[in-house]
Amino acid sequence: MSDPTLRVGILGATGAVGQTFVRRLADHPWFSIHTLAASERSAGKPYREAANWLSSRPMPDAVTDMEVVPCTPNAVEADLVFSGLDSAVAGEIEADFAHAGFPVISNAKNYRMDPTVPLLIPEINPEHAALIDEQSWENGGFIVTNPNCSTVGLVCALRPLVEAFTVEAVQVTMLQALSGAGYPGVASLDALGNVIPYIGGEEDKLDEEPRKILGTYENGAIKEAKLAVSAQCNRVPVRNGHLACASVRFSEKISPEAAEEALRTYTSPVDVSALPSAPDRLVSVDSAPDAPQPRKHVYAGNGMTVTVGRIQACTVNHVKFVALSHNTIRGAAGGAILNAEQLVHEGRIQPVAA
Ligand code: NAP
Repeated sequence: MSDPTLRVGILGATGAVGQTFVRRLADHPWFSIHTLAASERSAGKPYREAANWLSSRPMPDAVTDMEVVPCTPNAVEADLVFSGLDSAVAGEIEADFAHAGFPVISNAKNYRMDPTVPLLIPEINPEHAALIDEQSWENGGFIVTNPNCSTVGLVCALRPLVEAFTVEAVQVTMLQALSGAGYPGVASLDALGNVIPYIGGEEDKLDEEPRKILGTYENGAIKEAKLAVSAQCNRVPVRNGHLACASVRFSEKISPEAAEEALRTYTSPVDVSALPSAPDRLVSVDSAPDAPQPRKHVYAGNGMTVTVGRIQACTVNHVKFVALSHNTIRGAAGGAILNAEQLVHEGRIQPVAA
């Protein structure tokens, strides 16, 4: 396939995830940023004024003077839209765009568990994209979602284990970065030198999303995986990178060596090497005794690889490990861009004029 060039709109372009979209799309070989949209607070302003730029890398030149528009379909000209919208408004706005005929590639939680909406990770469940055919928006639009930023690291580490063995249950303690709360997020006086053992709604998402992602596609529906996940989520004073400390119970005793072998040898069900955002490896095993660490490993695979370490026998379950993922890249914008690339590759997204 020759490289397509598709015009993209970013909904919620001013937020933490929206800015990650901007950074990763600025020099993308297939997609070019055509429209930046946000709330009425930002609409009408140049992007450099509307966005409180969070990255240590400069704002891409191409967007600094771009005028931010409101999140309404008639204000957006694009072949597809990415959504980094606040979930309080994402439900209605994403539906408006799907009804208007746009492919909507969303990070928000609103449609993740809808039975007709794929909760997609191309290296894990590419066949779930067929759920798009079950959607019935007017004008041929559709919605595809990616998992919650805390689910994604865990589920990428679980997938090779689920494929090789029978996983019955997982206990996981999450240590989640501040950027996961968006901007301005957690007040500095609450965050610094502290751990907050509560992130609203997060534990429920970790309980339900893995069953859908690891489920099987059959006749237009997902048959959920039989797997119990018990999660405890903590906000920690780390900038980027969610750490999952997990302990897994299998149907029979599995050694840490066998689990590590499954993690090291996992290959995606489809070849994703043609997709520009796909890393060489979904999961990388690091056997250093103190790995993985957010500061050292969060940018593995350009932020798209999940690093797994500390694979050990567990005296309560069978095997325990630690998995690290970048929450605004693999857990948000990078994951969504990879989903869009897979859908383009499959011919499900095409230039509107084609
Ligand atoms: P954020 O920094 O608070 O950004 C929210 C965005 O939504 C801003 O662009 C904001 O525009 C826009 N917005 C708010 N109200 C709006 C309205 N009424 N109409 C149109 N736009 C509106 O949040 P975030 O952390 O980027 O998260 C964005 C979404 O991604 C959320 O659904 C979140 O749950 C999800 N997510 C976040 C992460 C993460 O690690 N941060 C990971 C995975 C998924 P203004 O600037 O104009 O207000």
